[in-house]
This record gives sequence, structure tokens and C-alpha cells, in this order.
Amino acid sequence: MEKLKKRIQQLKKKRPGYKEILDFYQKVREEQEKAKASLNIDPIKLKKEWKELLTKEGFPILERKDFQMDIEASTTLFHSLCNIGKDANPYMAEQARKIGEAIDNKGIDPKELLKPGVKEQRIDQIANAFGLDKKVLLFLIQSSIKPSIEAGMEQLLNEPDTSTWLKGFCPVCGSLPYLSLLKEEVGKRYLLCSYCGYQWRIERLFCPFCNNKEQESLHYFYAEGEESYRIDLCEKCHQYIKRIDLRNIEEADPSLEDLATIHLDILASQKGYKRSVPNPWTT
Ligand SMILES: [Zn+2]
Ligand SMILES: [Zn+2]
Repeated sequence: MEKLKKRIQQLKKKRPGYKEILDFYQKVREEQEKAKASLNIDPIKLKKEWKELLTKEGFPILERKDFQMDIEASTTLFHSLCNIGKDANPYMAEQARKIGEAIDNKGIDPKELLKPGVKEQRIDQIANAFGLDKKVLLFLIQSSIKPSIEAGMEQLLNEPDTSTWLKGFCPVCGSLPYLSLLKEEVGKRYLLCSYCGYQWRIERLFCPFCNNKEQESLHYFYAEGEESYRIDLCEKCHQYIKRIDLRNIEEADPSLEDLATIHLDILASQKGYKRSVPNPWTT
């Protein structure tokens, strides 16, 4: 956490316009770290057939509902994040206040929302019923379950052999990637799962959203002086993924680096490209 704070300081100095959102990020991360330290989750039981399905049929080994969740820790975290939200920007503050009220009046039961595999439709319903912004509610839910999900994923790190997976979706949980990362000396390319945080190896020229591998229709751009961040565009599906070269960044937290380069997403959107998995912090 100390190294992360140092990196946040660096980024704030470099890009003062991001100060408010970076302060918010730091507070959320501090609460998540606290939750992680007290986490109590059962091991995920993997059936042998599942692993075979992964290698033979190309199915991910888990569904979202298979993750084990520490509901108590997630609920505590949800409440803390709502409190942090009340001191954030006015829009977030208003939403966090409304959510707090709905919980106090027993209209919303956070435990129901934090169950593994809760359907997005259900979250929609609740957001509509209480006049809430669905994206903010979803952000708070996902940030609250993240420590449990990541702990589950970490248990499985050595389980699946994903070296031959090479697909555009996560071999552990089947979700789409939200960032692409360059690591190791030779710059191997990985995709980072938007749900469980697993990273898997992928070819350097490849659109994970439509499986396009043709060089002529895969382009990129970056901002001058920021060569570590690149937007990989696909002309076929008109979507893009941000690529972060972690080799040049000392304390590499991909979500943080993503958050501090929203200007690149704005440029990509102006060029007419869509981000398949939006940055959850920009709601
Ligand atoms: Zn995943
Ligand atoms: Zn594509």
C-alpha cells in the first residue's frame, strides 16, 4: 500500500486534473486492503471434469456464482465505501446518500446484492425502484466483492494451464478483459480479466472482442511522451482495449494506471471506438 500511495502521489503531480479521482481511488483501495486482511473464504472445489473442459472444449473453469464470498466482510466494505462516497464528488455523494437511506429503511439488503452471481437484472430492478444510478450501485457492489473474488482467483492461479488458451475471454470465469498488459523483458502480452483479475497470455496482434488477427485492420495510437499507454483499435468491430506497458512502471497497479489515463479513452471515443468493458471508476 505504501508503494501504491507513492505512485498515486507521482501521478497527481504529473496530472493535477486527476487529483480528486485519485484521492478517491486511494481511499477505496485502503478499505479493500483492510477487508482483504480479515477475509475468510472457503476454498473453491474444482471438479476434475471442469479442468478437462477447459483444455479440451475451451470452456472457462468457473461461473461467477461458483466464487466463494465472505459476505460479512463484503457487507462491511460496502458500508465503508458508501461512507467514502459521501465525501467524493457531489454526484457520487448524492448517490451514496440515497443508497444509505434505502439500506436504513430496509428497502435494500446489501447481503442480497453481494451474493455470488447476483444477476445484473436484479441490480437494475433495485436501482430503478430506488431512483439510483445503476452504474454507481454496480461500482459499489463490484468494489465490495473484489477482495473475495480476487482471493478465490488467487487460489486457482496454479490450477488451470492457460498457456494454450489464447482466447478473448477469461479461462477462469469467462468474463471479458478490460485491459491488456505488457510484461516481462520480451514484452509478452496478457489480458486482464474484468471480473476476477486473472491474467492470461495472448498473441500480440489480436482483438479479444472479435478475434481479428489481421494486421491491416488492427491499429493503435498513444499520446506523445506517454509511450507506456497505448490504445489498440480494431477496425472490424470498432472496439478498443487499452494496453499498459508495465515494464516501465515501478509500482504497477493496472487499474490505477487505467484511471490516470482517461484522456486516452476520451480520444478513442472521439475517433468513434467503443470500450467493451468501461472503466468502472468513470461513472
Ligand atoms: Zn476472470
Ligand atoms: Zn475487433
